Amino acid sequence: MAEGDTILRAKNRLADALVGQRIAVSAPNPRGRAAGIERLDGLTLDRIDAHGKHLTFYFGDLVLHSHLGMSGGWHVYPRGARWRRSRSSAWAVLTGDRADAVQFGGPTLRLLRASRVAIDPQLTRLGPDILAPDFDVDRILALFRAADQSRTLGDALLDQRLTAGIGNIFKSEACFAARIDPWHPLSEVSDEDLRLVLEAAREQMLSAVRLGDRHRFRIYKHRGPCSRCRGTVHHRGQGDANRTTWWCERCQV
Ligand SMILES: [Zn+2]
Repeated sequence: MAEGDTILRAKNRLADALVGQRIAVSAPNPRGRAAGIERLDGLTLDRIDAHGKHLTFYFGDLVLHSHLGMSGGWHVYPRGARWRRSRSSAWAVLTGDRADAVQFGGPTLRLLRASRVAIDPQLTRLGPDILAPDFDVDRILALFRAADQSRTLGDALLDQRLTAGIGNIFKSEACFAARIDPWHPLSEVSDEDLRLVLEAAREQMLSAVRLGDRHRFRIYKHRGPCSRCRGTVHHRGQGDANRTTWWCERCQV
């Protein structure tokens, strides 16, 4: 699952490869053709924005909106290089002067008018991006406090309407770094502890943006005793979507 850090890295790679260029756009897979993305062919890509797990590509008055979900991915290849997946599975191919950028799969690929972005239901319901340069922990804290306080912390961290970008990995990593039990209902988590968890999520994700595959997870899919206190590490499905949470029973309280 692509979380906010993966999306921000993808955005940086895509922007380096394509922004400011006239882009040839094709849709080998019918899913991309159904979205009408070939209307972008020959237009100049002005900029790319990342918000949580969403990417928006601005081509003048038209915007390509992409969300990768559990299985999608953006790949960037030097032009003419061999792709790691088949051409027929490519939903969108954006070809610039030197590179091909290819979206394979994902739940969302669609076109909208730039003037609609600010009122689009899918985009406007997102909370503040956990990785935004203007990150304001108290603004996010206020949204958590306005939510149902019987929800558990680990479940609420995944709610993209409260803060956008945290996924299943960094939900667990943030609670571990802040030493807080992800099973507490929000009503039992103090403002101070909520700030610690949110700041830990941002810090861990920024490290992953910098380090990529070299960033080490400390609790997610951890086998054996806790690396911090040698306590027992558990994992169990949490929340309505039953997404697996990893935590240490001893040092997260
Ligand atoms: Zn521990």
